[in-house]
Amino acid sequence: MKFVSTRSALSASLEDALLQGIAPDGGLYVPEHLPKFTLDDFTDCASLTEVAERYLQPFFAGVGLEESLPAIVAETFSFEIPLVEMSLPDGSRGQVLELFHGPTAAFKDVGAGFLAACMARLIGEEDPRGPVRILVATSGDTGGAVAAAFHRQAGFEVCVLFPTGRVSARQQHQLTCWGDNVSAFSVDGSFDDCQRMVKAAFVDTALQAQHRLSSANSINIGRLLPQSVYYAHAALSHFRETGRELSFVVPTGNLGNGLAAILARACKMPIGNIVLATNANTTIPDYFKSGELDDRDSVATLASAMDVGKPSNLERLINLFGPAEDLRQTLTARSCSDHEIKDTIRRTYEAGGYVCCPHTATAIAVLMNTAKQLDQAADWASVATAHPAKFESVVEPVIEREVVMPASLEALLARPAACETLAPTLAALRAAIR
Ligand SMILES: *Cc1c(COP(=O)(O)O)cnc(C)c1O
Repeated sequence: MKFVSTRSALSASLEDALLQGIAPDGGLYVPEHLPKFTLDDFTDCASLTEVAERYLQPFFAGVGLEESLPAIVAETFSFEIPLVEMSLPDGSRGQVLELFHGPTAAFKDVGAGFLAACMARLIGEEDPRGPVRILVATSGDTGGAVAAAFHRQAGFEVCVLFPTGRVSARQQHQLTCWGDNVSAFSVDGSFDDCQRMVKAAFVDTALQAQHRLSSANSINIGRLLPQSVYYAHAALSHFRETGRELSFVVPTGNLGNGLAAILARACKMPIGNIVLATNANTTIPDYFKSGELDDRDSVATLASAMDVGKPSNLERLINLFGPAEDLRQTLTARSCSDHEIKDTIRRTYEAGGYVCCPHTATAIAVLMNTAKQLDQAADWASVATAHPAKFESVVEPVIEREVVMPASLEALLARPAACETLAPTLAALRAAIR
């Protein structure tokens, strides 16, 4: 399979698309065509890894990585992604697809783990410039997931840049607790400054001559493909049990996770409705409504990992499935406020004891106020993108109770943390890389 740029006819193999991240014309890579599966294709596949191998095979067809697919899948999907029953705020029965059982307790572990497993097989021979340096600018969850995925992987050094004072204490610990081949830098500036420094490093020819630089950011096709797998697996399991399609409400920021669900449905997995839930950053719902795309600055909300003003994967969505008037036919997008987020966390907890993170709460809120009315016959699953213990400063005051940490998170927080401070300049980053 070839992957083509959203901006021209440029195409690349999966391997080149993974290594390049962004296409040379500035576009994002999308699959040249989408496989159309039938249920028979999955006859012998039940487990997450079996479904993953079958689902990903057409995307790997014809490249050297194809023979490593079983091992890549085993490394990526090393934790469970269960569909869990719970009570919704109104007491009715609901279910959540829990994506947060990986090493850093957020769904980004799936994409980061897959990218690391692929890249470890692609970096090839020893290079005189030394290890591949992965530069990541993060506002929270991405940096931790990437650090976890590449930690102690031979041939890689990771530099994580985060804005000083703008990530939560627990998030900062997850960025700075790794050591070995992972360095964390607290940048005196904003997330945008961090991103600007990383972008500047990639176009700095002197730096490129000395170091093999690579990125692991969310627009890499290697983050998107594995995320489709859990939708395929959950829908298939649900269909086998009930004979009915499964519909999803997906918490949405950059639209990577939502697009993965849309891709799985386009590949004919038994998925019904897909509803995108945003926080007060309403670029996507507004575009669906008006057809006018206007970029804006992000606003800070309680679901901070979704504070995105210009969702990068919208470019892929429009390229693959057409503009707003087409998208509206098969997709819905709705926003919710911080007040609704808090209210949903509280009411969900009171109704049946389920504790959700602020991002997951956007999905449950939009399920209650929109999705259910949209299709009352559908079987709905809300998507849970992070463990609530990661966002304890929001969740605990609302439910007036301590959130028990998963073992993985507890282990990370027990590690000693260290980071260096950096001025928000390329010169400072250059010096730090040396
Ligand atoms: C990144 C993130 C999101 C948003 O996912 P996108 O793929 O950017 O839409 C939602 N919830 C959590 C917890 C995240 O870390």
